[in-house]
Amino acid sequence: MSKLLLHNTRTGRKEPFEPIVPGRAGVYSCGPTVYAPQHLGNLRPYLFADLLRRTLEEEGYEVTHVINVTDVGHLVGDGDDGEDKIEAAAAKSGRSALEIAAMYTEQWLRDRRAINVRDPDVLCRATDHIPEQIELARRLEEKGFTYRIDDGIYFDVSRFPRYAEFAGLDLAAQVDHGRIDEVGGKRNPADFAIWKFAAEGVSRQQEWDSPWGVGFPGWHLECSAMSVKYLGEHFDIHTGGVDHVRVHHTNEIAQTECAMDVHPWVNVWMHNEFIDFQGAKISKSTGGGAVLQDLVDDGLEPLAFRYFLLQAHYRQQQTYTREVVEAAATGYRRLLALAAEVRDAAGEGDAAAQSDYRERFRDAMRDDLNAPKALAVAWEVARGREELAPGDRRALLLEFDRFLGLDLVQADAPGERFESDPRIDGLLAERQQARADKDFATADRIRDELAAEGVEIVDTPEGPRWRRK
Ligand SMILES: [Zn+2]
Repeated sequence: MSKLLLHNTRTGRKEPFEPIVPGRAGVYSCGPTVYAPQHLGNLRPYLFADLLRRTLEEEGYEVTHVINVTDVGHLVGDGDDGEDKIEAAAAKSGRSALEIAAMYTEQWLRDRRAINVRDPDVLCRATDHIPEQIELARRLEEKGFTYRIDDGIYFDVSRFPRYAEFAGLDLAAQVDHGRIDEVGGKRNPADFAIWKFAAEGVSRQQEWDSPWGVGFPGWHLECSAMSVKYLGEHFDIHTGGVDHVRVHHTNEIAQTECAMDVHPWVNVWMHNEFIDFQGAKISKSTGGGAVLQDLVDDGLEPLAFRYFLLQAHYRQQQTYTREVVEAAATGYRRLLALAAEVRDAAGEGDAAAQSDYRERFRDAMRDDLNAPKALAVAWEVARGREELAPGDRRALLLEFDRFLGLDLVQADAPGERFESDPRIDGLLAERQQARADKDFATADRIRDELAAEGVEIVDTPEGPRWRRK
């Protein structure tokens, strides 16, 4: 049996995972900034974190997974100048910042669940943790790592000699290429805001009192404050998109290691690559990046998108086009149909016949979560080999699906999924209308009548559908 190997951005190597506390794994993932619809590309970091979580659990670790929701302080352009993304979205739409954040958090959770990404153990919002952030900023100030300028309290990166180490930054070159925004009065171009004052003449919906005056926390601060609160001052794994390495994660490390006197603060840093959307960016429903609902509107199952994501290793860039995602959906349906062949097979099968497949599948996942390789083993099993009886195939596919999350075996085969009949479809529509009108008595009566006929109603992302029991 091989060991669980994870690629660590901090060391640049694939390394055996060594937990801080035996048998446990603390994982923090940077969550979304909830100011706009979460497009398909935003789901990749969470699918990756979900695979990590499932694999750690299968390896016997008790996992605590924490994800934040950024609902304040993330400025347009990720730097220290410009508008707050949420405040800007609120001003544009006429909704409150709170409503904007709640609406897109809800969409994000719904989309995650639709692709079988498990909910985290702790979902923490930045605005619910202002005192923790102020406390961290206060500690940094007390230790002399911060200074005050007109628009806020800044972290002085020259006080942290390891600042450039994590991302291998060449700070001088960054200045030359204008990659760091200039806020007047900063001591070093890479210095970043810990606490920002609302700009003069700008009224903000979200601002708080602090030892430095009314304002709001800098974007990076929340991840340090909340991860430490829920996972401790030294924890195992921090994940995020590869775009976070150079600034967001570099700044998280600087402020946490300085405030807590700890190094390394996080043992393993893991980063997923992007999806390249080429021309397929525009969503019909949102006008922005394509969202999961666009695929559903086009007749694709949400899990076909999960299958698409599993086809690439998380550290590989993946290309998204209509054709590629439709090919993935075809592949996914074929896999489901093969798995459905053994759905009713009895027994646990023969462990000896299964062991080669089991080991190859698990070894692939242990090798830095190599999902495409693991998926290939699942295909071998689904297609069936001479040495595998239906019971073996069923047992293996059920086990593999604990990692893959594709509803293999337990899902109905495609094609036989839902039925259509004008009378029953009409009753379903009537029930929907009754629910929309909050006439629950009528809605329940229709449901009971249909149930008496042996019709089961299933709520799907496309709305309610039905089948005979
Ligand atoms: Zn973060």
